[in-house]
Amino acid sequence: MTSSATLDLSLELLRQPSVTPIDHNCQNIMANRLAQVGFNIEHMRFEDVDNLWARRGTQDPVFCFAGHTDVVPTGDLQAWQSAPFQPEIRDGTLYGRGAADMKTALAAMVIATERFVKKHPDHKGSIAYLITSDEEGPSINGTVKVIETLEARQEKITWCLVGEPSSTQQLGDIIKNGRRGSLNGVLTVKGKQGHVAYPHLARNPIHLAAAAIYELSETVWDKGNEYFPATTFQISNIHAGTGATNVVPGTVEVTFNFRYSTELSADQLKQRVTELLDRHGLEYDIVWTLSGLPFLTPVGELVNAAKNAIHQVTGVTAELSTSGGTSDGRFIAPTGAQVLELGVLNASIHQINEHVNVADLEPLAEIYEEILVQLLA
Ligand SMILES: [Zn+2]
Repeated sequence: MTSSATLDLSLELLRQPSVTPIDHNCQNIMANRLAQVGFNIEHMRFEDVDNLWARRGTQDPVFCFAGHTDVVPTGDLQAWQSAPFQPEIRDGTLYGRGAADMKTALAAMVIATERFVKKHPDHKGSIAYLITSDEEGPSINGTVKVIETLEARQEKITWCLVGEPSSTQQLGDIIKNGRRGSLNGVLTVKGKQGHVAYPHLARNPIHLAAAAIYELSETVWDKGNEYFPATTFQISNIHAGTGATNVVPGTVEVTFNFRYSTELSADQLKQRVTELLDRHGLEYDIVWTLSGLPFLTPVGELVNAAKNAIHQVTGVTAELSTSGGTSDGRFIAPTGAQVLELGVLNASIHQINEHVNVADLEPLAEIYEEILVQLLA
């Protein structure tokens, strides 16, 4: 395949150096196309973040395409085989920063919408777009703010398709229908600093904490459920010491993260950690940061429409999954919307030489169009 509408629009978006939180005109490119097929365009800028809310129609149900125009930094430019913002096709593979995450999906959404609207100008309900330039950054002035604005005026999304790269081996093999919650903790266990040769005058916080850390790492928090794998606990850093080999440190700091299922709440996890530490008789502080609530879209209209569309276009039977990192779906799902993620292969995202199969672009646009047909035709 040398040329297609989806590829052409992908190339146009990939040429914009939209390193988070810079949109670099990507949303205008999309908005101009959408305006031509009857969308009402609202640019919502919050601080340094550009957001786009576009809607065609005023009725319910509202089908919304969601995603982000920002990309992660390029990393070492010398390591790229071709310049990250000069997209290049080599052997049927399109290279460029954002090729997989997620400008090709944005292009596929727009192409699918144009084709659908042409065939079904009087479709049911509404089609909407919620696009941000702050997904790869702190996610403070992006989707969450747009959702707040929509909630304040009681504008609701019924079904939301986030175009994040969900596929693993082949296009459409995985639909993400939820995400685990993410809870971070920084634990500081206190001891008493001293000389290693006089341990009776010191209290070594590393020794004191060791058994508790071991127990935390071995604990079965839950068994997961039909949709979620079991909750996991991972330590990402342990830090203590003054740099000198003859000093017992005064404190040890342990940074950890829970990825948790819907079987548990963040408060329950906090309570169980606190009980465990208390049982070990430790003196400690703990600072918690909740970076995302878990969400789940059970099998229903949206999941079925996506599965049918994938099967129709590619012959693939999609599997549901809730694995992987967080996404902006976590901000949309709490409004009551059904949310899923469906996009290209994710093997190269955030890497040097990020890429996508050119042959997957038109089928992705066809899948998105067929989902619109299933839900709104
Ligand atoms: Zn992404």
